[in-house]
Amino acid sequence: MSAEVGIGAAVVVDGRLLHGNRGFAGELGHVPVRPEGPECACGGRGCLEQYAGEDAVLRAAGLEPGEDRVGLLSGRAEQGDAAVRDALHEAGTALGIALTGAVNLLDPESVVLGGALSGLAPWLLPSLRSELARRTAGPPCPVSVSPLGPEGPLLGAAHSVVRGVLDDPTAVAERA
Ligand SMILES: [Zn+2]
Repeated sequence: MSAEVGIGAAVVVDGRLLHGNRGFAGELGHVPVRPEGPECACGGRGCLEQYAGEDAVLRAAGLEPGEDRVGLLSGRAEQGDAAVRDALHEAGTALGIALTGAVNLLDPESVVLGGALSGLAPWLLPSLRSELARRTAGPPCPVSVSPLGPEGPLLGAAHSVVRGVLDDPTAVAERA
């Protein structure tokens, strides 16, 4: 799971990325958290992005979106800014609610936080973990933080292309 302004997820099954039938698998940011919540650009209401996307968290904390959103939020949270910590706590709760659907449906080995979320993990994880554990039908699913930091999603995308070539080198030769 990765977030910047938007939130996305990659579902990896047996080492392979799940694309879905129309290529839209992993749109975690548009999973409804509060079905009667504000309208979203996707046509739905109360999507996860509106509670846990970077801009949403900044707004909830009473801050203007600027250049370095994660730096601003983590800096303020480190200083003990109550409004920022509350906003991150609420974002973690929303992430936990949205992830519950995915975990109950897929029963994954683990959930990994990457992208901008990894820099905010100390303040997101407590409420995320408790919400997820409380709502999950089976045993609690472990939640960890990617050691790859903000570059993780890009590396994953690159890996999925390279993997396709390694799996079937002749397909590339035929196209060339
Ligand atoms: Zn949406």
